[in-house]
Amino acid sequence: MSNSEAKPRIGVFVCCCGSNIAGYVDVPAVAKYARTLPNVVLVQENLYTCSEGGINEIKNAIVEQQLNRVVVASCTPRTHEPLFRNSCKEAGLNPYLFEMVNIRDQCSWVHMKEREKGTEKAKDLIRMGVAKAAMLTPLDSVELGVTHSALVIGGGIAGMSAAESLAGMGYPVILVEKQRRLGGLLNQLHKIYPGARDPRALLEEHVDRVTKDARITVITDAEVQSVDGYIGNFNVGVSSDGRTRLYEVGALVVATGATVRQPPDGVYEYDGRRVITQIQLERRLSEGIDPAPRNVVMVQCVGARVRERPYCSRICCQIAIKNALEIRRLFPDTHVSILYRDLQMYGVANEEMLRKAKEAGVRFMYYDVDRPPEVENEHVKISHQLLGKELDLPADLVILSTPLVANEDAPRLSGLLRVPLDANNFFLEGHVKLKPLDFASEGIYLCGSARYPANLAESIAQGLGAASRAATLLSKEHLYTSGITASVNPESCVGCLGCVQTCPFQAISFDPEQGVCKVNPVLCKGCGTCAATCPSQSIQLMGFTPKQLYAQIDQVLADD
Ligand SMILES: Cc1cc2nc3c(=O)[nH]c(=O)nc-3n(C[C@H](O)[C@H](O)[C@H](O)COP(=O)(O)OP(=O)(O)OC[C@H]3O[C@@H](n4cnc5c(N)ncnc54)[C@H](O)[C@@H]3O)c2cc1C
Repeated sequence: MSNSEAKPRIGVFVCCCGSNIAGYVDVPAVAKYARTLPNVVLVQENLYTCSEGGINEIKNAIVEQQLNRVVVASCTPRTHEPLFRNSCKEAGLNPYLFEMVNIRDQCSWVHMKEREKGTEKAKDLIRMGVAKAAMLTPLDSVELGVTHSALVIGGGIAGMSAAESLAGMGYPVILVEKQRRLGGLLNQLHKIYPGARDPRALLEEHVDRVTKDARITVITDAEVQSVDGYIGNFNVGVSSDGRTRLYEVGALVVATGATVRQPPDGVYEYDGRRVITQIQLERRLSEGIDPAPRNVVMVQCVGARVRERPYCSRICCQIAIKNALEIRRLFPDTHVSILYRDLQMYGVANEEMLRKAKEAGVRFMYYDVDRPPEVENEHVKISHQLLGKELDLPADLVILSTPLVANEDAPRLSGLLRVPLDANNFFLEGHVKLKPLDFASEGIYLCGSARYPANLAESIAQGLGAASRAATLLSKEHLYTSGITASVNPESCVGCLGCVQTCPFQAISFDPEQGVCKVNPVLCKGCGTCAATCPSQSIQLMGFTPKQLYAQIDQVLADD
């Protein structure tokens, strides 16, 4: 009889988390209560269960007390569950015979001023955890090999930075660029601020590095046509020169950037000649403007922060101020006004740029979204809030600051990669704080303006960051999937495809020979959506089976 089939012997470890839990929950009372619960043979209070001492206590107790289930009542599983599972494993217990109860976030944090109620709730949660622990069964993970190379999609500054960094760590990289030349938007810029750097010199440096590095294969005029596989083992079809080649790689980086929005003709009298966009201004500045404009007016938030496009494109204020400074530098007699709704000049260097622009005589005027400026016959009318009157600004050149928008083919690529887009069709990271450069699907990373409008420094930093994230995977010889995955009972599955349609990770397919659905445990992320959908409970999430969940529900409803 394996130790999981024997009568449950449950050890409960209640963490004080210093005073984080013990300051608001009566930990000794909770521990005393836990000793009365069925199958519990050991209860310990720890100052910090996650400390080396706490972990050793768990490991020793598993061996000495022959524990076959462990419950830790402490903080969030999001950060600490892997540590505790691993401790069980090191002591010879299947790591899925572990249950975690969160009495920090759910008790001490939310009931800070209700010690008694928080303590009672902690008892309830531990009672539920113990009931579930008694029902746990050992689970296995799948071992996977890892292909030690990466494919980067998009050869702008973010993608090139990611490729260079990965190659520098010794990994072969395939860099796929849609256009004939590398560099993305930087190819179209006149100067890079802060610092007034020459974009051509910067690009040359990067292009030189990626094209000369023997570990980087650059494929331009190319597109990703197919993506199969999963973390550590992707097969990517790339078409170029009329043929498609398959590449086997372990990680993917999305660095496809974004597109400058072209305003519809007629908006603010836009004509591409006297009324142009910032990116068109960049080209004119590079080519040389002659004759010099006398009065330049820039209008911010054109087509941004409106109902159809509610987001702020973040970098347009920096771009406008940069170009205002450039115009004042090249043509000291030219007046420049910037009409804005809010100024987004985050960071020390950008604030300094704003200060310099004011010093250089650039005029800033606020406009109300409900009373936008009007462009007419080389004049811009603006209702000035402070003066309380309408101003008529002469303008022989009007510059519209339009936002960066998601690339047109973002939905196609997101479908191929099975990664989500946000409401504005930018690629959506796994978690804005915890996984800013990862997708929810493992083994795929993102950086630069593909994720959200980013300036140069941010794009490079994110490119390097995405490379580091990919390297944490590529540096491993083997990967182990989680045992918490869905599983189909072929006896009762009728192949209705409900689970196939709801799975956000495309981890479930229909087996036509057997007429049932089946789960790819490598792709399954254990979200449980399928289990909640299945009308016959034929698909269940291991570690969260109906039996285990009902055991918890029974306990919370029971009068103790
Ligand atoms: C007018 C303007 C002025 C700017 N000035 C400054 C400045 O002064 N300072 C500053 O810090 N930042 C500035 N920026 C921002 C800067 O351009 C961006 O930070 C930078 O270009 C973002 O790099 P990226 O690699 O993420 O994207 P991009 O430069 O857009 O590169 C993405 C690359 O991916 C390729 N691609 C797209 N889709 C695919 C696909 N499906 N398959 C393969 N390849 C694909 C594209 O062809 C492109 O080469 C400015 C931006 C604009 C619009």
